[in-house]
Amino acid sequence: MNHLCAPDPLCSRVPHAREHEHGFLHSVETGAAVDGPGMRFVYFLNGCMFRCLYCHNPDTWKIGGGRAITLDEAVAEIAPYARFLKRAGGVTVSGGEPMIQAGFVGALFRELKVRFRLHTALDTQGFLHAAVDDDWFDPVDLVMLDIKQIDPAKHKALTGRDVLPSLDCARRLARLGKPMWIRYVLVPGHTDDPKDVAALADFLKDEIGPWVERVEILPLHHLGAFKWKELGLPYALDGVPTPSPEIIAETRAIFAARGILAI
Ligand code: SF4
Repeated sequence: MNHLCAPDPLCSRVPHAREHEHGFLHSVETGAAVDGPGMRFVYFLNGCMFRCLYCHNPDTWKIGGGRAITLDEAVAEIAPYARFLKRAGGVTVSGGEPMIQAGFVGALFRELKVRFRLHTALDTQGFLHAAVDDDWFDPVDLVMLDIKQIDPAKHKALTGRDVLPSLDCARRLARLGKPMWIRYVLVPGHTDDPKDVAALADFLKDEIGPWVERVEILPLHHLGAFKWKELGLPYALDGVPTPSPEIIAETRAIFAARGILAI
């Protein structure tokens, strides 16, 4: 049986009634090329307990915000594309943080597998993984696990939350034999210290091993800054430069030196 939510003060605000039948959807994207293998249909769900300084979707943060949607309605959104997606890619559930709606998302993954046999990917920072049982991950083919920073203090400063649950999630997924793409946002002054990158690469090599298929280095961009302003939130990264090609190459090389594909 799936637990519905983590014992988290923010998460306790999630409406639990009939959670398996209803979710809270921010938006969908029908032809995404950067959210998993091939062409993806992406569900962006509402709700996140992190506050990443670089978040380009702060409009997804509100727990219980967005459009209330039934499981059948969510499945109907993808149905016209399912035949194409089966050949060309698959479906990704992202956010926000989709595991904040674990009951609904687990049911959605199971439904998409049964009805369409699509390749499925979950984009998560893993913070709430302990709230679900192992079999919750059965219909998930790939986990795109966002590890924001391995240094605990810097992670907390960057996201407002602890890093340990994300690392434990990676360990657990390795134990379950679940393929992972690790996503790492490269932010000058926050995540680009070679010592931190090397510590993350060592962790992946030594503890996670072959279940990490690749690391995606995502250079900071400011395309979401206007959303912070629209929401009346201070955007702390104003003026922070985007990483240079040299820093990006050096970061990739740290992973490559440990036999980890970094793109
Ligand atoms: S985990 Fe994702 S959605 Fe949540 S604050 Fe960070 S970048 Fe934004």
